[in-house]
Amino acid sequence: MLKLGPVEIAKYPFVEDASSYIRDIGITLEKLGTDPDLQIFIDMAMKRIRTAADGGVYESLPDMLDKRRMMFETLSFLVAVILLKLCGMQTLIRRFALAEARRAEKNLGVDLRIHPADKFELAKRLIGDLFSVNIEYINGDLSVPVQDYLTRAINFHEREWNLVNRRVSKGRVYLTRHETVRLLRTEISSYIQAKIRSAKMPTMQSGFEKPVTELIDLAKRFASETVIVSGEHPPCIKHAIEILERGENLPHSGRFMLATFLLNRGQSVEQIAPLFKNAPDYNERTTMYQLRNLSGESGGGTKYTCPSCEKIKSNDMCFANEKCDGIFTPLHFGRKK
Ligand code: SF4
Repeated sequence: MLKLGPVEIAKYPFVEDASSYIRDIGITLEKLGTDPDLQIFIDMAMKRIRTAADGGVYESLPDMLDKRRMMFETLSFLVAVILLKLCGMQTLIRRFALAEARRAEKNLGVDLRIHPADKFELAKRLIGDLFSVNIEYINGDLSVPVQDYLTRAINFHEREWNLVNRRVSKGRVYLTRHETVRLLRTEISSYIQAKIRSAKMPTMQSGFEKPVTELIDLAKRFASETVIVSGEHPPCIKHAIEILERGENLPHSGRFMLATFLLNRGQSVEQIAPLFKNAPDYNERTTMYQLRNLSGESGGGTKYTCPSCEKIKSNDMCFANEKCDGIFTPLHFGRKK
């Protein structure tokens, strides 16, 4: 197993085991729950979870070289894992894992620079150990093996991820640092989720009850209702729903397409709204306001129609298959010709 130093642990705390790290620094869970001097770690952990729940990414404390701050940074993550485990709310765990994956992405993006070499080597080993991807610098450019690329890029539908649009040489695909870490986001997030799920259930301590209850209340805000869907959806709509389900950002044009498609298929604003709850920038009031405008319930009373296939194509949101032949709007998908 990869051995990291304190600076790296603070940057990538998900590689650590929560209970053993806390035990190794001489803190017991009981003390964590009851010692007023340690309350700060619970407060920081709650802040980290709330930030993630709101779609944000926890900002590292300044002056990361300070040993004490590094410990705060690591502990706030690990205590957050304990609280999430105790509350057991999957919505919060998923949002937390995604936000922490984004944070790791940011740090990896910096560490994957060719200089200083030691940081690059560590980031490369971390990615190699956790995700079995072999990253190399060749003539100053980052590259990954074609097979590693293909198994991951399959999740992206934008044209730029298509292999024919990439520089490929001697069995390797060339990527920017940003693209390299982006390729791994889903895996990092799944890794963190799996780590939280497989962690041993901590014992509830008296000082944990209040924050855990708060988290359960917080999760209720994101409680998903099932969106009633009838009939098969066209690929562009399926793709938009998948992006939202992964908690990723769907561009404005994609949200417009999805909402107008479902509204024109007879879904109500209330039925559609829960689909957007996983969006990183979700805001209930704004979502309801926009959906009501699109449905014609408010604003000028005009019900918007779904954009044409041509328009969707120009926004890079079209993933046509053979069933799309001859149609010019997603609303005609599945109609007998
Ligand atoms: S052809 Fe039309 S319906 Fe089919 S995926 Fe593209 S935009 Fe959607």
